[in-house]
Amino acid sequence: MSDASAPAVSNFLREIVARDIAEGKHKVPVTRFPPEPNGYLHIGHAKAMCINFGIAQDFGGHCNLRFDDTNPAKEEQEFIDSIQADVRWLGFDWGKNLFFASDYFETLYQWAEHLIRNGNAYVDDQSAEETRINRGTLTEPGKPSPFRERTVEENLDLFRRMRAGEFPNGARVLRAKIDMAAGNINLRDPVLYRIIHTHHPRTGTTWCIYPNYDFAHGQSDALEHITHSLCSLEYEDHKPLYDWLLAHLPVPSHPRQYEFARLNMTYTLLSKRHLTRLVQGKHVRGWDDPRMPTLAGLRRRGVPPAALVDFVKRVGVARANSVVDIAMFDACVRELLNKTASRYMGVLRPLKVVIENYPEGQVEELDAVNNPEDPSAGGRKVPFSRELYVEQDDFMENPPKKFFRLSPGKEVRLRYAYFVTCKEVVKNDQGEVVELRCTYDPASRGGNSPDGRKVQATLHWVSVAHAKTAEVRLYNPMFNRPDPASAEDPLTELNPASLEVIEAKLEPALESAEVGKAVQFERLGYFTRDPDAGLVFNRTVGLRDTYAKA
Ligand code: ATP
Ligand code: MG
Repeated sequence: MSDASAPAVSNFLREIVARDIAEGKHKVPVTRFPPEPNGYLHIGHAKAMCINFGIAQDFGGHCNLRFDDTNPAKEEQEFIDSIQADVRWLGFDWGKNLFFASDYFETLYQWAEHLIRNGNAYVDDQSAEETRINRGTLTEPGKPSPFRERTVEENLDLFRRMRAGEFPNGARVLRAKIDMAAGNINLRDPVLYRIIHTHHPRTGTTWCIYPNYDFAHGQSDALEHITHSLCSLEYEDHKPLYDWLLAHLPVPSHPRQYEFARLNMTYTLLSKRHLTRLVQGKHVRGWDDPRMPTLAGLRRRGVPPAALVDFVKRVGVARANSVVDIAMFDACVRELLNKTASRYMGVLRPLKVVIENYPEGQVEELDAVNNPEDPSAGGRKVPFSRELYVEQDDFMENPPKKFFRLSPGKEVRLRYAYFVTCKEVVKNDQGEVVELRCTYDPASRGGNSPDGRKVQATLHWVSVAHAKTAEVRLYNPMFNRPDPASAEDPLTELNPASLEVIEAKLEPALESAEVGKAVQFERLGYFTRDPDAGLVFNRTVGLRDTYAKA
């Protein structure tokens, strides 16, 4: 099994970079991670970061963090800030290489005029609807705009007036003049600039025309001397335009674009458009809701960044799209936390147990091991007394043959404590079991068999008098189906039981658990204290694969 510190496995992108260096095309690679600040980063972005930052690091180059902030209608400072925090959290460092596409707005504007002057761009007055219809289809060529043959002077004049703010949103666009019959629709006179009268988080009201992604991305890459522009497959169809623009502009370098498959996961939506709807529609508590596949959500749920990096490594880098089983992600989290998380006892669905032959008022501080996988984690004391909580699930009045836990007459071990035997069952008026009366064997202190006799189960427990009451948030799959992205509207497939809130009883040491640092509740799973006030825990991941039966 791999671990997060293992060296990166080679892949086709690394081979390309290695070859270019061997052939002397570049001394070191310069890559970039180019998020649009219109939402929080998600686990798919983690893959893009691992690729871009990872390759730069391993080949001695550097990776720029560049905000693709070209659409002020959807972008916000909150997202710029959260993205930086999330990149750092994942363990990547852009050093002094922080850039914004908006830093290049003046250069891009000049380059747009350059295209106009060379007859390679024109101002189009068609409506968005007309433009769409006239673009044609995969089987039919597009129709040239009636404004396509405007003179250079007219185009320059109109474009300057667009910049000056003379026209309302949508009145005109600047388009590249390429080929309305091109097989690749991206080359049918793509839009380069549109009018958007909106405050921009960085340039304020300086601009009311904005370059779109295609007119900003390649040129930003060129200005930053990016050697390998590594992006996901959906940009493959944009590459001819990327290259066309670089070929027709006085750019200082000509980066090469290479594409890799996006990360897709079962039960998970990785699209900011849909994630935004979840947040705005209040289907979740926010971008950092632990059910969200955002890095902020995963962090809040208690997923360590190293587990994410390990997961991305195991998924690997390929050119073919595929869907990764979310169980594999959980397995990475579980595997790492198994090594690092301290163990505690907590009872999620408490059932009271009274040890009848244990002295009233007596309390023993019993020795517990913090992490059997890590002796350096040491130990702690756990208070034991006459009244305890055990898990409701650990008792059955009429057990089937293979049920080894508590049932009338059955003896089990209480972890770190004693052997106890169930003597009697107390029920309420509705016939529900509300209490067990048990006896203990004083000779089994520490949970050791006094005479070699064996018990078949070891249960976790919490002393009633010492228990801390906590809110525990259990997370279940967010969607009813493994492929929510295939639904006509994924939001109609939300699992109403994705969040279950329960009141648990925890051993006292958990009262000082650190926010954000996962611990194991023995036999139950990994849980992480939430930043909310009070004692609140999120279930990070269960001990077993729950998706298999979902
Ligand atoms: P979304 O579809 O969620 O809106 P996006 O591609 O529009 O994602 P950007 O902010 O433009 O989001 O993405 C920044 C970079 O992250 C891009 O280079 C993109 O290729 C990459 N990226 C986004 N989603 C994934 C994913 N699921 N797997 C791998 N890389 C991704
Ligand atoms: Mg995008």
